[in-house]
Amino acid sequence: MTLTLSDVTLTYPDGDGRLTALDRVSLEVPAGSLTAVVGPSGSGKSSLLAVAATLVTPDEGRVVVAGTRIEGLGRADLAALRRERIGIVFQQPNLLPSLTAVEQLQVMTHLSGRAARAARGRALELLDAVGLADQAHRRPHQLSGGQRQRVNIARALMNDPAVLLVDEPTSALDHERGAAVLDLLTALTRERSTATVLVTHDRAHLDRMDRTVAMDDGRLTAQVPAV
Ligand code: ADP
Ligand code: MG
Repeated sequence: MTLTLSDVTLTYPDGDGRLTALDRVSLEVPAGSLTAVVGPSGSGKSSLLAVAATLVTPDEGRVVVAGTRIEGLGRADLAALRRERIGIVFQQPNLLPSLTAVEQLQVMTHLSGRAARAARGRALELLDAVGLADQAHRRPHQLSGGQRQRVNIARALMNDPAVLLVDEPTSALDHERGAAVLDLLTALTRERSTATVLVTHDRAHLDRMDRTVAMDDGRLTAQVPAV
C-alpha cells in the first residue's frame, strides 16, 4: 500500500476546546489507483489531504507514505519525504507570474548544469503528457484556467511522486473542462503508478474514479458506489 492512514485523529484549537477535523479516519490507497473523497464543505477533506501530505501531524493515528512511517520524523526528513515522494495539487494553481510553463516545472528541482538540462527535458515531457506541449513557453497570464491547472498537475509530477494529492482541481472549471482534468488525472495515475487521492465536493464525474469515499463531520462514512 503506497499511502496508509490508520485511525487518524486531528484536532484544531477552537476557543476553549478543540475542534475534531478528522475522527479516526483510515484509508489505504494502492499505487496506480485513484480514490475520490467527497463531502460537504467543512467535513475534513482538506485536513485529510494535509495529513497525507505530512503538512500537519495528527493527534493520533499512523500515516505511512511510500513505506515510510512519518511519526517521529523531524522537519528536514519530512520536507525531504514531501519533496521526493509526494506531489500536491492545491485548489489554486499559484503559479509564479514571471515564469513560463516549462520553468514552473524546472524550479521544482533546484538543479544546475547537466542535471538542469535533463530536468528541462523531463519538464517538457510532462507538459506534453498533460496536453500542453505547444504552451511550454507561455506565462500564466497567457494560459486559460484549465491550462494553468494542467501546469499545476504537471508540476506536481516533476519529482516522480509515489503519492499524488489533489484538492478540488475542478472547482474553477466548467463541467466539460472539469471532466477533462479528471480524465487526465486518471490516466496519469495509471501511467505513473501514483497512489492518487482527489478531493472534490462535486459528485459529477465520480464514475471515472476507482473508488469514492465520503467524509462527513470528520469521519469517513461510506464508500459511495460509482454513479
Ligand atoms: P473541507 O476541506 O472538507 O471543507 P477542512 O478540512 O478544510 O474541510 O475543515 C474541517 C474542519 O476543520 C472545519 O470545521 C474547519 O473550519 C476546521 N479547520 C480547518 N483548518 C483549520 C485550521 N487551520 N484551524 C482551525 N480549524 C480549521
Ligand atoms: Mg477543503
